[in-house]
Amino acid sequence: MATGWGSLLQDEQQLEELARQAVDRALAEGVLLRTSQAPSSSHVVSYAPFTLFPSPVPSALLEQAYAVQADFNLLVDAVSQNAVFLEQTLSSTIKRDSFTARLFDIHKQVLKEGIAQTVFLGLNRSDYMFQCNPDGSAALKQIEINTVSASFGGLASRTPAVHRHVLSVLGKTKEAAKILFNNPSKGLAMGIAKAWELYGSANAQVLLIAQEKERNIFDQRAIENELLARNIHVIRRRFEDVSEKGSLDQDRRLFMDGQEIAVVYFRDGYMPGHYSLQNWEARLLLERSCAVKCPDIATQLAGTKKVQQELSRVGVLESFLPGQPEAVARLRATFAGLYSLDLGEEGDQAITKAIAAPSSFVLKPQREGGGNNLYGEEMVQALERLKDSEERASYILMEKIEPEPFRNCLLRPGSPARVIQCISELGIFGVYVREGKTLVMNKHVGHLLRTKAIEHADGGVAAGVAVLDNPYPV
Ligand code: ADP
Ligand code: MG
Repeated sequence: MATGWGSLLQDEQQLEELARQAVDRALAEGVLLRTSQAPSSSHVVSYAPFTLFPSPVPSALLEQAYAVQADFNLLVDAVSQNAVFLEQTLSSTIKRDSFTARLFDIHKQVLKEGIAQTVFLGLNRSDYMFQCNPDGSAALKQIEINTVSASFGGLASRTPAVHRHVLSVLGKTKEAAKILFNNPSKGLAMGIAKAWELYGSANAQVLLIAQEKERNIFDQRAIENELLARNIHVIRRRFEDVSEKGSLDQDRRLFMDGQEIAVVYFRDGYMPGHYSLQNWEARLLLERSCAVKCPDIATQLAGTKKVQQELSRVGVLESFLPGQPEAVARLRATFAGLYSLDLGEEGDQAITKAIAAPSSFVLKPQREGGGNNLYGEEMVQALERLKDSEERASYILMEKIEPEPFRNCLLRPGSPARVIQCISELGIFGVYVREGKTLVMNKHVGHLLRTKAIEHADGGVAAGVAVLDNPYPV
């Protein structure tokens, strides 16, 4: 993939000056993170790491990713409503994975009591890499779909201005104009606003479940600000606050500090470490309520890697999207090889293949947030250890995507600008709202490009590995 930045990346002095300008513009635009030294305070903040230049993305793949997003929204929504599929798919996983088991437990309890929620809101992000084919062409392959706390829509709304600035400084006006407009925070807020409106109580608020130490608060504020502009008020609370001050009335309406809540937006609660016993109780209380949860517990389960793997089996997409062969074909075209590790012959074969070709596979547990997957020799050791144990069912195996690397310059607070070999991951934000059985909104609302050094197998921006970027369509 030709970028055109080749010679620019060689002039160290020019890069340094450009980097200074880019960083100042990023700060001015609000591409911000709190620091790791003071993660609960906004007194001292810095810029979120980003690339100096936008990175090349084939236009056709960008279009393909946008075109399949409404299908993924439909699919996630359908899976979340199919309790039998979720139970069958996760049955072996939950025997060995206590986190998924806990989520599943809440799901069962809510089903047993009867779901009070009538409006459903999905804010997800489907992530892809560009597989380099033997003939040199690139193919869009899904890495995963995030159905809970999909982040960086706010900051991604502000990075296009930074890259346009860099290219304008260089006098590259035509190139600057190719940086796509992007405003996921507005689209995500529109989804929340629609759900709030359908909930139908003028004084009700949005409850954002936040972590105490949140470096990425400005990303979340971008959505809060969009909501406030629509006169919808957001309160930020922790799970601990919910257990102290949250309550349900006899109609299972949710109240926080005496204030009715229409929508609960989770930016917490997707990792085991986010939950104490008290926090699990709070999650259950929220799930039992008739407030719109984003996501509800079933939709969070629909985003597990085990579900992703089962969806790739022959006939499963067709059963979720009957009479929609074109949607099925669009979805399937983005699937990489996914393999179950459940005990049995199929799982045995997958393990044998992965041990024989470790560089071609990734071993994934049911976790979110980066840094949990196993690659190469570490993967082989884990597979050898898990081979004869039921525990292996809590993992899935995935074909490793190998994109073609390119050069870019990564900017991080406190580090010198570094020109390195990189690969990118593209995310498309999707929003849907369903009222009872009727889908009232289903769309894509923008993108996120993250870029990292090729030597890092795993990890996102929050994990300190990838940096924010923009696609430069080629
Ligand atoms: P998480 O839920 O932790 O974000 P992901 O499945 O997104 O889990 O994996 C984390 C990171 O690992 C991705 O951002 C990507 O960089 C890398 N990764 C995951 N799956 C693959 C794959 N099949 N091929 C290549 N890299 C992968
Ligand atoms: Mg991911």
